[in-house]
Amino acid sequence: MTATAELRGQDVVAAVPKGLLIDGEWVDPVTPRSLAVQNPATGEQLAVVADAGAQDADRALAAACAAAAGWARTAPRERAELLQRAFALTIARREQLALLISLEMGKPLAEARGEVDYGAEYLRWFAEEAVRIDGRVAHAPNGDGELLVTRGPVGPCLLITPWNFPLAMATRKLAPALAAGCTAILKPAAETPLTALAFADILCECGLPPGVVNVVVTAEPALTVGPLLGDRRLRKLSFTGSTAVGRRLVRDAAEQVLRVSLELGGNAPFLVLADADLDQALDAAMVAKMRNGGEACTAANRFLVHRSLADAFAHGLAERMAALVVGPGTQPGVEVGPLIHERQRAKVDELVRDAIARGATALTGGEPLAGPGAFYAPTVLHEVPHAARLLHEEIFGPVAPVVPFDDEAEAIRRANDTEYGLVAYVMSGDLAHGLRVAGRLETGMVAINRGVVSNPAAPFGGMKASGLGREGGAEGIDEYLETRYAALALPAWPGGRAVPGGPDAGRHERG
Ligand code: ADP
Repeated sequence: MTATAELRGQDVVAAVPKGLLIDGEWVDPVTPRSLAVQNPATGEQLAVVADAGAQDADRALAAACAAAAGWARTAPRERAELLQRAFALTIARREQLALLISLEMGKPLAEARGEVDYGAEYLRWFAEEAVRIDGRVAHAPNGDGELLVTRGPVGPCLLITPWNFPLAMATRKLAPALAAGCTAILKPAAETPLTALAFADILCECGLPPGVVNVVVTAEPALTVGPLLGDRRLRKLSFTGSTAVGRRLVRDAAEQVLRVSLELGGNAPFLVLADADLDQALDAAMVAKMRNGGEACTAANRFLVHRSLADAFAHGLAERMAALVVGPGTQPGVEVGPLIHERQRAKVDELVRDAIARGATALTGGEPLAGPGAFYAPTVLHEVPHAARLLHEEIFGPVAPVVPFDDEAEAIRRANDTEYGLVAYVMSGDLAHGLRVAGRLETGMVAINRGVVSNPAAPFGGMKASGLGREGGAEGIDEYLETRYAALALPAWPGGRAVPGGPDAGRHERG
C-alpha cells in the first residue's frame, strides 16, 4: 500500500463502529470478548471488533421481534425511501467502503469499487420493489364468494453472509428483507466484519428505526447464532456460504420448519463449443475465472473446450493469466489480490498438486507466491484428467483447468455430472446453438458469450446442492414474503357480475 493509502486506510478503519448493533445502539457483548480482523495481503491486524456470544444473539432476536410489527406497518413508500437514502449514501461513501473491502478481503480496489456499485444496486432495486408487493382477488370457481390473496413480511430473519463479497452479500439479503417489511439479524463473516459494520452505520444514519437491523459479529457462529434456528421467534434463515455449512443449517432449521434460502457452492462449467469465437471466449473466461480472484461461487471451475480450439484456448488463457499483476489489492495497478487466508491457499495448492500428479500440465503458475499474504500464482492447467479432484470440488482460487472434448453431448453430460447447479457459461458463434446447449445444462443460471451473470435485476440462485430460492430480480422479494389468503363468503365487490339485462338491469339508470 502507498503511504497515503495506508493513512487513508487507518482513518477509514478507525471510523467504523466496532461494537454489536442491537436495538439501534452500538453495544458491547454481554461477555466482553473481541476478535481481530486481519489484512490478508500483509497478515497485519487491521482492527479489533466485538465478538458476540449466544446471549447477544438472543438480545438481537428480541430487538428484531420488538421492532417487527412496527416495521411491517411502516408504509411501503417509507421503507422504499429509506432504501433509496441508503443507496445514495453507499454510493457517496464508495471510496471508503471500497478501501475497507480491499483491506479486509484482499480484492483489488477497482473490483472493490465495482462491488460497492453492485451491492448498492440491490438497495435501489428493492426500493423500487417495496411499493409493488401485490396480491390478487379471484372469484371462487364454484361461484361461492371471493378469494383474496395477500403477501406480507415473513417476520424476523437471520441473514448469514460470507467474506468474499462483504458488502454485496449483505445488501442482497437486507434490501429485500427491509423492502418486504421484515426485521433482521445480520451475521457477517468473522474475516470481513468491518464492511458490514460500516454499512449498518449507513443504515442508522439513514434513519433506520431501532431493532429493524441488528448486527452480530462472532468468531463462533455455531454457538452464537446456532440456537436461534430452534427459536420460535425466528421466522426465516437466509444463508450464503459453503454447501457443508448450508446442509448443517438446513438440518438445524428443520426442527421448527423454518423458511430457508440458501446460496451455496458451485462447480461452474465453462463450455467452449466448436463454433465459438476464440477471443470472445478468452475475454469471457478471464472474467468468469478471475472476478474476485476466483473466490466466487460463480467462478468458472472447469473449462470444457472443443478439441479443435483447446490448445489455442489453453495457451491464450495462460498468456493472459501470466500477465496479471498480483499483489496487495490497495496497491495501484494490482489485478489479483491474496487469497483470504493460508488455509484457502493450502487447499488450492493441494488441488493443483493432485491434478498435476494425475497428468495435467501447468502452462503457467501452479504454485504459491512469496508472502507475507496468501498469494497464489494465476494458474492454467491443460489436459486435466477427469479424475482430478479440482473438476469435482470448488477451487475458490485463481486456477483454470482446461479439459478438451470431442463430442458435445459428452461435454454436456460431464458439465451436469456434479452435485452443484449454480451457473454455467456457454461460448458459441451461433446464438441458437448456444441456447440449445444452455437449455440442457442443469444450473439455475447460464451466461452465453459473456463471463458475468450477476445482476440485481435478475434472479440469482442455483439448482441441486447449490441452493434454494433466488436473490435479486422480481423473485428476490418473494423469499421474504408469506402468502396468505382469505376466503370471503360474500362478494367483496360485484366485479363482473353486472350482466346486461340481468335481474339488476335498469335499477341504477338515474345514478
Ligand atoms: P467459508 O468456508 O467460505 O468461510 P462458510 O460456509 O464456513 O464458508 O461461512 C459462510 C458464513 O457462514 C460465515 O458467515 C460463517 O461465519 C458462517 N458459518 C459457518 N459455520 C456456521 C454455523 N455452524 N452456523 C452459522 N453460521 C456459520
